[in-house]
Amino acid sequence: MNNKKIIKASFFHSPKYGDIEFLKQALVFVSSNGIISKVIRQDDENYLELLEKHSKDNNFFDFKDKIILPGFIDLHIHAPQWPQAGLALDDELSYWLNNFTFPLESKYQDLDYAREVYSDLVKTLLANGTTSAMYFGTIHNEATLELAKICASYGQRGFVGKVVMDDKTMNPDFYRDNSTKEAIDNTEKFILDVQTLAKDVFQGVYPVITPRFVPSCTDNALLELGKLAKKYNCYIQSHCSESDWEHNFVIERFGKRDSEVLDQFGLLTDKSVMAHGNFINSEDADIFKKQKSSVCHCPISNSYFANAVFPVNQLKKQGLNICLGTDISGGFSPSLYDNIKHTVMASRMLNDGVDNKLDANNRGTNNARVSVFEAFYLATTGGGEALKLPLGIFKEGYICDFQVIDINSPSNKLPKYLDNEEDKHLLQKILYLSTSENIREVWVQGKQILKKD
Ligand SMILES: [Zn+2]
Repeated sequence: MNNKKIIKASFFHSPKYGDIEFLKQALVFVSSNGIISKVIRQDDENYLELLEKHSKDNNFFDFKDKIILPGFIDLHIHAPQWPQAGLALDDELSYWLNNFTFPLESKYQDLDYAREVYSDLVKTLLANGTTSAMYFGTIHNEATLELAKICASYGQRGFVGKVVMDDKTMNPDFYRDNSTKEAIDNTEKFILDVQTLAKDVFQGVYPVITPRFVPSCTDNALLELGKLAKKYNCYIQSHCSESDWEHNFVIERFGKRDSEVLDQFGLLTDKSVMAHGNFINSEDADIFKKQKSSVCHCPISNSYFANAVFPVNQLKKQGLNICLGTDISGGFSPSLYDNIKHTVMASRMLNDGVDNKLDANNRGTNNARVSVFEAFYLATTGGGEALKLPLGIFKEGYICDFQVIDINSPSNKLPKYLDNEEDKHLLQKILYLSTSENIREVWVQGKQILKKD
């Protein structure tokens, strides 16, 4: 049983894209169900009275000079690829897939192997401040259900999908669904198994319908998965217009773009999180908006496999909801901190251009810069919006997930020698310079689930 709690600390969050709020030494009241019941700021008139009344309580947690950030929300991870993170990124995509990725993913029929890798990955993500995570598993039901159980037992909020890849002409014989029917039956069984598991999981665990991407699935599989999404009101994840090859392949096969094809099969809903979206145009973005679907930006992975920089700001201005993902192992890092930084840096290259032979006026795209605070929004509030869950903000009615940052951690002490530093400078330093060493505790749904000594 979880108790009510009162948390006193200094919190950063981003309720609005680009805006940062600093709640200095605020009191956050958390109900027994892990939901924030009220937030009292230092300048609220009853602050001192409440502080005095509760500061000796057993359930009063004073984080003193540590800084609290919302738990990060990583919405694109290939869990089985964790063993090859950082490998073969200098190779072509087809070589990477056929010589590394598919042989590795095929190993997850071995449940012991799955358990070992998935436990390590979930622990690593939590240690990096990721409290909600959306995962591709493999084609194997048992191993993927094991991943859901591991998220549940370590306290992470997991969104987990059994991968569907049933097209015999597009997938290797050693790693694909045996038939369309088997792929769909196994997906339905997986949904039911995770829903059963979820009954006893305090922070929630959710099944996700997971066509690998349009090229790896038959029309019939896509159609049936769309029906399952409707029947069970499930989350859906896939890739959308990721690279030149994938984007053009879908246009050649259907005479339509990825977003139109996904929409036609019922795979774009308000619970859809589509990775990458590097080649979506403004009509595609309108389809996403209409269906309230989200794009998961994976900036590190995009640098290796996407052939373009995703224009975050342009599409954000159009009203597209965008969240952030590591895309392990197309992206090498398990840290959304690294992806926040890379979001900013990639946007600067898109803005200024990269070819020094071009005149400065013709080199870049202009108006593409993403600030570090905007990238922080994508990793927190944007993720909550994609999941349609009250996550990422310290506000009444929101779920209480957070990470506790010690900027004076002996193994990675952040420099603090300037006079007159503003509050926002502290957050900039944390986002750019901190490592998992600075994350001392992680809480999910109002419960401490990780503490580093
Ligand atoms: Zn991916």
